[in-house]
Amino acid sequence: MIELRNVTKEYSKGNSALNGVSVKIERGEFVFIVGDSGSGKSTLIRLIMKELNPTEGTIIVNGQNLNRMKHRNIAKYRRGLGVVFQDFRLFAFSLGQNVTAGADVDRARAEVCLREAGLGERLLRMPDGLDTMLYRDFDPHGVVISGGEAQKIAIARALYKNAPFLVLDEPTAALDPVSEYEVYRKFNAISGGKTALYISHRLASCRFCDEILVF
Ligand code: ADP
Ligand code: MG
Repeated sequence: MIELRNVTKEYSKGNSALNGVSVKIERGEFVFIVGDSGSGKSTLIRLIMKELNPTEGTIIVNGQNLNRMKHRNIAKYRRGLGVVFQDFRLFAFSLGQNVTAGADVDRARAEVCLREAGLGERLLRMPDGLDTMLYRDFDPHGVVISGGEAQKIAIARALYKNAPFLVLDEPTAALDPVSEYEVYRKFNAISGGKTALYISHRLASCRFCDEILVF
């Protein structure tokens, strides 16, 4: 469970991105977060990831107060969080390495994650499967993918981590409404049993969720 108690975050004195926010997210819940650009949605995620600390208030994750988490435990804690940020980056490496975010590729698992993220058919059309190079920076035959495909690869990467907590932060920027809805449905389906946050500035795709937080 994730609980925020009266959390305020100021990036500069007197300018709060979040102001006295209290919310509880139960384990296994699918939560839709909606709000205008600049309303503090990504700030909430960065606080939960402990990339930022609250200016005031407390965040408790599974009984642990993040304010008091020891520095050496932060990396381990983050391994349990599968987050796709709005400004995620893919690398000009192979498709497989982009999914695993490392040199060692568990090929079977990477393929499963790509299929779950909705790229199964596209994978079959990749000239070298998982070894296909993305982009043309290092390989003149590299495959240039679309924004929607990049999004799905980023989702596959989060799935590959096999984290019990998944976050998709505004996949909408690069996507048309129909593709966004497809990503939303997919994310809803694959996050079954996990705690999941889906962040959007549009309310339209918001269905099948347990809770809606309006920022
Ligand atoms: P959202 O994700 O809902 O668009 P953000 O959490 O990114 O909103 O931003 C909330 C507010 O905090 C905005 O006013 C934004 O300009 C400000 N902000 C975000 N990140 C920073 C930062 N690193 N430094 C200063 N201000 C920031
Ligand atoms: Mg944001």
